Amino acid sequence: MSHQMQPMASLTHPEPTSRRSTSAIEPTLLQPVPSRWITGLVTDILVRSQVVGLLNKLNGRNGGLILAMHEISAEQLESQLETIAATHTFVPLTELVDRLDRSLPTRGLAAITLDDGPEAITEGAAAIALRRGWPMTFFLPTGSIDRQQPAWYHEIPALLLASSGRTFSVDHRTFQLNGSASIVSAIDALTTDFRALSTSASVEGLLLTLRRALLSADELDPMLQVLRPLTWERVGELARHDELSFEAHSVTHLAMSRLSAVEIEKEMTESRTRIEGVTGRPVQHFCYPYGSWEDIGVVAPKIARRLFRSSVTMSRGRCTRRVDTALLPRVSLYESDTVHSVQTKAALAR
Ligand SMILES: [Zn+2]
Repeated sequence: MSHQMQPMASLTHPEPTSRRSTSAIEPTLLQPVPSRWITGLVTDILVRSQVVGLLNKLNGRNGGLILAMHEISAEQLESQLETIAATHTFVPLTELVDRLDRSLPTRGLAAITLDDGPEAITEGAAAIALRRGWPMTFFLPTGSIDRQQPAWYHEIPALLLASSGRTFSVDHRTFQLNGSASIVSAIDALTTDFRALSTSASVEGLLLTLRRALLSADELDPMLQVLRPLTWERVGELARHDELSFEAHSVTHLAMSRLSAVEIEKEMTESRTRIEGVTGRPVQHFCYPYGSWEDIGVVAPKIARRLFRSSVTMSRGRCTRRVDTALLPRVSLYESDTVHSVQTKAALAR
């Protein structure tokens, strides 16, 4: 079994870019070459024909952007942010929300957010934030930092990629990991399973089943290159910089729609208190795990509205004056996004 796959280069967090998408994998990276080529061609034509520039002006009048990043290399992050910086000024999320609360214009402003707190990604991003003076907000699921264990959504892609060529069964379904397409569809199917779980114990149970099936072991394979969480010590050190803020992303990273009102409130207040205890700064913003409407549900926004100044989703959109600060849209950028696709995504957000 090979352990040489680098999850960071090819995979993204399973949070969907829209309510329709459930793909765990950055779609443009693993799709067949012709469709990737066509997507690139269409994007190129749009950019070259100045349609993107016009749309950016048109839609940009409606308000600013919140960018959402997950697993992304420092090089790509900096290059993508440079692209956005050509048309936007980066501001802290709190400043953007403050302007929305006071009905002040946000056009031309962008806030940078990164989810899940993986150590390597966060350190790389924080270094860019400090060097370039670009404020960034990091949404942390506190449970995985407390346990110092990688999250399932970082372990599963690494585990399956390292198990290429294998066949395994879970819940009466058989997965054959022959080639990237079958690995992607297995990750997709398992991601759907994980996202439907409503307790940490069931997440641990499914993880154990998969480790036993693929590794014949109960523990995380130390040879597997899996993104690990930041330590609280580093969160405390990084939080001393005014450019960096650490906000809440629940304790367990379970979909809020799967939890009771009492559990949702506990997830929100406990993650907030934990981060505030380490940083000594108020936690005012929340990021819904997975971020689709289906994963958020109807109860969580009501509670989030009471506990936080703002909450962000994975719905693509722009912070217009009519936006609900308990359900803020974001624009997600991935490792595979090019200068042109970054420009197009930003311009098309409405
Ligand atoms: Zn997340």
